[in-house]
Parts: sequence; structure tokens; C-alpha cells
Amino acid sequence: MKKKVTISLLPGDGIGKEISIEAKKILNWVNKNTSIDIECTEHLVGGASIDKNGIPLSNETLDKIKHSDAIILGAVGGPKWEGLTFEKRPERGLLKIRKELDLFANFRPAIVFDSLVDSSTLKPEIIQGLDILIIRELTSGIYFGEPRGIEIISENKSKGFNTLVYTSDEIERIAKVAFETASQRSKKLCSVDKANVLESTELWREIISNTGKQFPDVELTHMYVDNASMQLVRNPKQFDVIVTTNMFGDILSDCASMLTGSLGMLPSASIGFNRNGQKKAMYEPVHGSAPDIAGKGIANPLAMILSVSMMFKYSFLRNDISELINSVVNSILEKGYRTKDISNNNEDYVSTSQMGDLVIEGLNNEKT
Ligand code: NAD
Repeated sequence: MKKKVTISLLPGDGIGKEISIEAKKILNWVNKNTSIDIECTEHLVGGASIDKNGIPLSNETLDKIKHSDAIILGAVGGPKWEGLTFEKRPERGLLKIRKELDLFANFRPAIVFDSLVDSSTLKPEIIQGLDILIIRELTSGIYFGEPRGIEIISENKSKGFNTLVYTSDEIERIAKVAFETASQRSKKLCSVDKANVLESTELWREIISNTGKQFPDVELTHMYVDNASMQLVRNPKQFDVIVTTNMFGDILSDCASMLTGSLGMLPSASIGFNRNGQKKAMYEPVHGSAPDIAGKGIANPLAMILSVSMMFKYSFLRNDISELINSVVNSILEKGYRTKDISNNNEDYVSTSQMGDLVIEGLNNEKT
């Protein structure tokens, strides 16, 4: 008997649309070859939604995606919409989904595939075997804090301001997720803050430490964000799980992406729970809409495909499907197939759709 699941796919803008086609290939394969029966519906978000509806996320779309079992998002944004006021920009659609669904825990793994060791700008011995997980708080902190804005003070002077706010319950819930995750991995958790100068992260440190008392098997360390950014590049393998605030996590995970060689390789999952304790989650690559390469057919779809893999693991508890996808990606890379971003400027690279087809071919070979 097949298990029915509903998925909302939001391709978004730029390369988001191109890599979403490759995500659909994986969903179709899973539909045909496993006991999961996927009903996938597509919706507009970001610039694509602005062009049709005048806003980056319509209430109708929000309502539909709230009722699906999982959401897959490509990427939003691009130069076409950059002149719009802040509230109307494509990125507001994405922030609204995260906020409305209360997707407070953002999982960003940075894993270096052995065959891609040479694609990173770092020395192989620094990154070989790297497998770290950054857990970023996603629905609070400075990206959401009030007051915010730009005010005119006088004729020649303006003021721009944002507020970094965290409440103890917001910190405690992300802390619990981080400790639980760390206890299932190598039992090491590093909390990153700036407690020496920011009171809100002084509270962050205190609550993380207190929550840690419930998880005596996990070794907790604290690090200031400036040091953490340096340590991530100097010796990234000292970390296993990192938990941090919204903005610090945003910056550190982009930094971690270059350990793996390309932004095009980094998947993510954003997870929350509704009132009944049911999991709500959105899966998306860490990268943006990459306007510089959009439409050229050269975007790397692997961050998206690995995000789909995370969906099977975290939303549908199908570790077998997730691991199958990961191992197929690994073997494609082992065989030397590369998209342009990871090809070390070699002219011999595959297109976005060829890479997607290779994954399907690999899945078919594993099946037989
Ligand atoms: P970006 O992540 O889109 O691109 C940064 C660089 O990485 C570019 O050179 C791009 O070509 C390359 N790159 C990114 N993804 C790639 C892939 N899959 N394959 C190959 N190369 C890839 O960041 P940006 O240029 O700063 O932002 C572009 C737009 O995306 C902006 O409008 C920004 O606001 C938006 N953005 C959206 C998201 C999101 O939707 N989650 C995240 C970040 C940025």
C-alpha cells in the first residue's frame, strides 16, 4: 500500500526554475519506484509571483503550502525586482513562509565529497572528510526584530536601524533541536554568539548552557562569531554541529559552502512544528537565484537534489531513499561528472539537465 504525501513546489526565479525541473525528475522517480505516492503542486513565489499577482507571496499560495506535507523551494530574487520597496521584494515571500509556518530550525549541512576535494579553494588536508552541520535560528533575531527602518533625522542626515531580539523561549527551542541533533551525531555542539558585546546573545549563551544540562552526553562549547568564522576556514573539522542566531548562521553557512567547493552543492532544511506537534518543513538550496548564470543551463542542481534527499529523511522518515540519492550523487561525482561551478574551469562539464538525468540513471542502476 502506497503512502500518499503532498508536496508544494515553488520554483521561484532565475536558476530556481531550472533546478526545480531536476527536483521534479527525482520526485517522479520516487513516485514510480517506491511506496511513496507523491502529489506535487506548483506555486509562484518571489519575482514570479510579483509579476503575476503584484506581491511576492499570495495568501492563496500561503494557504495551499500550509496544508502540504512538505515544501520545496528553488530560489527567489533578481535584478528585475531590486528597485522595489522592501516589503514588495521577492525575498519577503520567502521570509513570510518561514515566519508563517514558524520554520525556526534551519539545518545546513556542509559535506565535502571526496571527489570534490580539489574544487575547494582550501588545501585538501583541511577539508577532506568534512561533515559538519550548521543549525541556524530562522524566524527571529535581527532579520525580524522591531523597530526597524530608515528615518530622516534632518535635511542632511538619515538613520538606518534594525533590532536584534531573542526571547528565552525562542532560544530554548532551537537549543533543544541542536542538542537532540548533536546527540545523534558525534555528541559535540558549538554555540556561536557575540556575548561579549551583544546582550541578546549573552542571553543566548545563558539559555543554551541551561538547556545543555538536559543533555549531559553532549559536549557543549561556546565561540564568538568572529573567532568561529576564522576557525571555520582554519580548521573546519574541529566542528560537528554548530548552533547559532539567524544572521550569524546566514553568514557562517555561506562561508561553509566554500569549504565544499560551491554554493551549488549546499542543501538545507527549515523545520518547525504546528500546534499538534506535527513537523512542518521547507527544503531549499542555500544559494540564491544566481542571475549571472540564469537561463544558461549551467546551474548545479545538486544542492536542490540533496535538499530533496533531506526531505525524504526529515519529513517522510525515509532514510533509505535519502541515502540512496546521496550515494548516487557521490558516485556520479566519483565518475568525474561536473557542472561548470565545480569543474575547476575545465571546459568539459555537464549541463543542469544532464546532471539531473545522470542522477536518474544512477537511481535506475541502483534499483536493478
Ligand atoms: P547567489 O547564491 O544567487 O549567487 C552567488 C554566486 O554563486 C553567483 O556567482 C552564482 O552564479 C553562483 N551560484 C549560486 N548557485 C549556484 C548553482 N546552483 N550553480 C552554480 N553556481 C551557483 O547569490 P547572489 O548573487 O548574492 O544573489 C542573487 C539573488 O538571489 C539576489 O536577488 C538575492 O537576494 C537572491 N537570494 C535568494 C536566496 C534564496 O532564495 N534563498 C538566497 C540568497 C540570495
